[in-house]
Parts: sequence; C-alpha cells; structure tokens
Amino acid sequence: MSMSQPSPAQLADSAFNTAQKQFDIAADLLQLDGNLRDILRNCKRELTVHFPVKMDDGSVRVFEGFRVQHNIARGPAKGGLRFHPMVTLDEVKALAMWMTWKCAVVGIPFGGAKGGVVCDPKKLSLSELERLTRRFATEISIIIGPDRDIPAPDVNTSPQVMGWIMDTYSMAIGHSVPAVVTGKPLSIGGSEGRLEATARGAVDVIVEAAKYRQIPLKGARVVIQGFGNAGSPLASFLHQLGSQIIAVSDSSGAVHNPRGLDPSGLRMYKRETGSVVGFPNSEPIDPMRILDLPCDILVPAALESQITGRNADRIQAKLIAEAANGPTTPEADEILTERGVFLLPDILCNAGGVTVSYFEWVQDLQSFFWDEGEVNERLERIMIRAFRSVLQTAEQYKVNMRTAAQVLAISRVAEATRTRGLFP
Ligand code: NAD
Repeated sequence: MSMSQPSPAQLADSAFNTAQKQFDIAADLLQLDGNLRDILRNCKRELTVHFPVKMDDGSVRVFEGFRVQHNIARGPAKGGLRFHPMVTLDEVKALAMWMTWKCAVVGIPFGGAKGGVVCDPKKLSLSELERLTRRFATEISIIIGPDRDIPAPDVNTSPQVMGWIMDTYSMAIGHSVPAVVTGKPLSIGGSEGRLEATARGAVDVIVEAAKYRQIPLKGARVVIQGFGNAGSPLASFLHQLGSQIIAVSDSSGAVHNPRGLDPSGLRMYKRETGSVVGFPNSEPIDPMRILDLPCDILVPAALESQITGRNADRIQAKLIAEAANGPTTPEADEILTERGVFLLPDILCNAGGVTVSYFEWVQDLQSFFWDEGEVNERLERIMIRAFRSVLQTAEQYKVNMRTAAQVLAISRVAEATRTRGLFP
C-alpha cells in the first residue's frame, strides 16, 4: 500500500464506533433495557499513561500507553497488549469491548480488557524493548493482577514480552506471580499449545463451518491477510487438512501462487528475511488485492477495518474466518450477508487464544500443568460448543453469525450484571 494513500482503517469509522454499532444491533434484538444498555456500551476503566524510557544512545523518550477494562461482571478482565505506531485509545476501547463478548461467547469466566503502547518495536533494540515493556508494566500495575486484569500477547508482542511483564510485577510483589499474564514462555509457567491456540481454535470452527456450508476443505483455496501469531500457524493447519494457501500478505507486501504456497517454507523464509515478500515460487501482488482473489476461504489475520463498504462487494470467498479482531465494518457485514457469504465473527473465530490463556491462568494458579493433548482437546470442545450455540442463536433470531455471537455474548454479560445488581 502506498504511504500517501489513506489505509482502509483510516477511511473507515472509528473502531469503537464499529463496536458500539454492533452492540446496538444485538441490544435491539434482545430488547435490552436502557440502563443496562448504557452500562454495557461503555468501558468501565480507561487508563492512559505517558512514561519515559532511556534509549540506547542515552536520550530519553516519552511513550504513550493505554490499558482499558470494558467489563468485569463475569470475572477478572482479560485481553492482549499491542505495540504498534497506530495504537489509539479508541482502538483499545473497541478491542476491550470485543474481549468481553469473546469471553462470554466461549463461556470462560473473564471480563474484557485490552492495552497498547504507541511505538514501532521494529525500530527498538531488544534492550530498549525490554525497558519499555518493564516501565509500561509498572505504570499499569495499579490495575493489573492475577485476580484483577491479566494481559496477553497481541500484535507485535511475544512470549518474551509477557515474561518481562511477569518478572516486573513479581519483583514489585516480592514473589513470583505467573498468573498475572498469559502467553508466557513454558519455562516460567506458560501453557502447552498457547502459541498456536488462536489458529487452532479458528481451524476448529472453520471445520464446523465448512461442514455446515458443504465446502470441502481438501482442495479449498485459502487467502490469508497477516502472517504472524494468528495467521502463520493457521496456514499450516489448513494446509495439513489439504487446503491450498494461494496468497498471503504481511505489513511489507503480499505473495501469490494459484497452485499453492508451502506454509512451513514461508514461515522459515519470513523468520530469516522479516517478510513473506520475495518467497521463491511466488508472484508479488498488491496486498489489498488479495482480499478479492477468487478463493473459497478468506482469513483476515492482521488489523481492523480491512473489509469495508468499499471492497465487500468484490470479495469472492464463500467463507470468511476472522482471525483478526474487527477486520470487517458494519457496512461490509450488511453487503456480505446479502451476498450469502458465511462469516465466522472474530469474537467466535479467534477465541482459541483467550481460551488457552484461561487454561494457562488456571494451571498457574494451581501449579499443575497439562500436556498438549489435554489442552487441544479441551480447546476443541469449547470451540465446537461455542460454534453450535452461535449457529443456533443465528437460526433462532434469523440473523447472521456476527449478530448471533453478539446476542449470545451480550445476553450472558447482561444476565451476570442483572444478577449482581447495582452497587450501592
Ligand atoms: P502479529 O504481530 O504476530 O502479526 C500480525 C501480522 O499482520 C504480521 O505478519 C504483520 O506483518 C501483518 N500486518 C500488519 N499490517 C498489515 C497490513 N496492513 N496488511 C497485511 N498484513 C499486515 O499479531 P497477531 O497476534 O497475529 O495478531 C493479528 C490479529 O489477530 C490482530 O487483530 C489480533 O488482535 C488478533 N488476535 C490475536 C491473538 C493472539 O493470540 N495473538 C488472539 C486473538 C486475536
């Protein structure tokens, strides 16, 4: 994408407006009372911090960061941390709200949160990244904690970053607190299967959706936007099921081969070169054009607002699986529904990540660890149960899968809020 052109995200509505519009559609269907609606369509806590970090050249830079808790009626707040130059409070609020609904859709006892730091980690040295992470963790330590708010990885944050957060928090408390953060390395209380959990959970529901819509996965042509924590293992899992990954993009560009790309080769190539661009046996292609390539399954696995009112009518996929959060705007949703495209919404499709984060938190609290088979089996059971509940809600209310997932989630959070009553 040329730098002078506005990105789809810049052209689209604000992410929080999108989240609130989606909420309103479901709240209308549920005939939610006005007071409850006001509580649930706003975020409970929004913390903005500005903090100094010493750079390698001796200078000091002040960074801006956020931690937002949308709702904690069903349990401690839970959600990832994003390090990206375009992070805004508005985006973090939307992502926090989606986390509340996501945890409710899969029925795990968490509320929703999200955080972020406005920075470009690719331009920081490892020690600058560590100092930034540790100082940010200290700044938000006033609201995080194993029974209050538990961060996790998101865009540009890794198990190592989670490890530094765990260590920083533990240093202040005076003993190890592994359950303060999930997505940690295995050596300090991480869970087996967490690294690929988002992708594995997405594949669990893609398999169900493909059965329901009678799309054979063997030979299905797949396009994936974004080749990171979520997108890259997903390519491998679908390839193992016999699908062909015909195009993949990342922040540097996109590659295409109508006969199929080799996902494990692509992963190694990206690890070595930093991008998928230039991968042998592939043609370069405009990253936005891959969304409308002829294919069976389209997987947005990068950022918000990629499928909008401007490009939704060009999409040729039969099934869209939202590994990313918020990749489709409400305008695009309407167009896709009218055109009969089956969409697995983010709060269902990528809930495998938070589900295994929940398993990691449970294991840390009990100091009792499970093997990978047990993790994956429990994950599959939860994802399939959630898919069936959302599908049943879609049939009951005669709505698309996004609205059904929202209706299901909001009714669960509303029920918890009602049952707890209003303090004081
Ligand atoms: P990541 O940083 O590991 O990967 C992001 C990928 O997207 C990278 O390959 C990056 O190059 C690419 N990208 C960035 N901008 C792009 C653009 N304009 N076009 C094409 N590609 C672009 O991040 P991630 O953890 O994989 O997160 C990706 C999405 O999945 C986010 O929406 C995130 O919120 C969501 N998600 C992640 C998890 C998780 O466990 N990591 C869980 C649920 C949802």
